[in-house]
Amino acid sequence: MPARSGKQYLQGLKDNSAEVWLEGERVRDVTSHPGLRRGAQSVANLYDLQLDAWVSDEMTYTSQTSGEQVGMSFVVPRTLEDLENRRKMMTRWARTSGGMLGRTPDYLNVILMACAEASSYFGANRPEFAQNAISYYQHARENDLALTHTLVNVRRTRSAQGTTGTDEDVALHITDERDDGIVVKGARVLATLGPLSDEIMVFPSTVLRTTEDAWRYAFAFCIPCNTPGLKFVCRESFDIGRSNFDHPLGSRFEEMDSIVLFDDVFIPWERVYLSGDIELCNTLFVATGSEAHMMHQVITKNVAKSEFLLGVACLMVESLGSGGIPQVQERVAELILDMGVMKACLRASEADAKFDQWGVVAPDKDHLEVARNLFPRMYPRMTELLQLLGSSNLMMLPTEADFESPIQSEVNDILATDDLSGLHRVKVFRLAWDIAASSFGSRQTLYERFFFGDPTRRAISLYNSYDKQPVMDRVKEFLELD
Ligand SMILES: Cc1cc2nc3c(=O)[nH]c(=O)nc-3n(C[C@H](O)[C@H](O)[C@H](O)COP(=O)(O)OP(=O)(O)OC[C@H]3O[C@@H](n4cnc5c(N)ncnc54)[C@H](O)[C@@H]3O)c2cc1C
Repeated sequence: MPARSGKQYLQGLKDNSAEVWLEGERVRDVTSHPGLRRGAQSVANLYDLQLDAWVSDEMTYTSQTSGEQVGMSFVVPRTLEDLENRRKMMTRWARTSGGMLGRTPDYLNVILMACAEASSYFGANRPEFAQNAISYYQHARENDLALTHTLVNVRRTRSAQGTTGTDEDVALHITDERDDGIVVKGARVLATLGPLSDEIMVFPSTVLRTTEDAWRYAFAFCIPCNTPGLKFVCRESFDIGRSNFDHPLGSRFEEMDSIVLFDDVFIPWERVYLSGDIELCNTLFVATGSEAHMMHQVITKNVAKSEFLLGVACLMVESLGSGGIPQVQERVAELILDMGVMKACLRASEADAKFDQWGVVAPDKDHLEVARNLFPRMYPRMTELLQLLGSSNLMMLPTEADFESPIQSEVNDILATDDLSGLHRVKVFRLAWDIAASSFGSRQTLYERFFFGDPTRRAISLYNSYDKQPVMDRVKEFLELD
């Protein structure tokens, strides 16, 4: 099948409906549920964009297996140009939401590609798993699937004894190994896009050898979201039915986060990437090159998001006529620098791209690591800058209904600036509010802080893995120390 249209994507969700729970009710059709349907439509629009005649050359490439045009995010980069083409495609998707849809399907497509290219990694101890990695990638590419993923076990405690997340009844674990597959039970978090996905990637958290049966927590597999025994439990929706005018982002980009419950879920062997192998699970993301490709997608999204926030800030300043005030200039300059750092890291990662051990042209990890560690700190500050630039304007927000009511002209006149109508000003500030002050906006900030793992532990890992010797040697040489 060639790259899907939005209609085909939505039909897929209807035909293969998963067990989704939202506010105490089973959602029978996510494509028509008031809290989910407009988020689903935004994802559908991404699929349509792949087929738009004016960009389809950029969004798709020819599959060597089927000869069909398939999504560019599945491409195996064999040249630098392939990598750049993939980034251009990912940029187009990210720009449709100003980077507010974190889980566009390209995020996981690049992992599937990397795992297929590194198939011998999965086959190291169980040769049949190598073919699974290749077959599943081809299956996802040829059917243009949307995947969600979950890496983290639900834990009852963060106490020193409980930090592994593998020694508790709630962590996802293997309960049975059969001739035809494994059976798993437990709970994982936090599947963003869970209810709006076709399939789920259940990949490993770090598994420590704390107990003899630690192997039960070590596995990687991908299965359809409608597999029996699988439930997605959603948080409440930030799409509360308001218009695009009132909630410009929440009304469009609700990608939904969910807890995933596995109640003795059967996983056939052909969908298993790893089972019971702690060492291979713990090094999977780095060793297969998946992490570098994933970061490439994330930083591409971060560039689009930083550009969007900068654009909003500039429109706020224009609306208020505050561009001559030094501290306003300083705040906007900070946003320009943030965006510049993301762009520079992305560009550098491509400039220094090299073949990895699997024969794939991989973006340079070190540059992406800088961006990945900085953005969780930058983004909350970027939204703070919008708050500082906007102040009470972020609350002087009549709704669309006010602009259609008997007080319409009064409101329009009062809120007009020297150059702009009240309606124009309110549109700009409602958008700034939905980034920096609404429920939708708060979730975006939490997402940027944590979706790529806990930033504290990531910084600790960077400290421990970074080769500090060369810089220490240089200073020692300066001090003439041995
Ligand atoms: C909006 C959102 C969307 C997400 N989407 C996904 C997704 O789609 N798929 C997915 O797999 N995951 C997703 N995540 C989950 C993300 O992977 C986790 O949030 C992240 O790994 C941190 O784990 P935690 O939330 O359990 O935090 P915790 O581990 O509970 O940490 C909470 C705080 O305690 C501190 N802490 C706890 N234990 C330790 C320790 N041992 N050492 C040092 N500090 C510690 C941390 O620094 C942190 O500040 C998402 C998260 C968010 C917020």
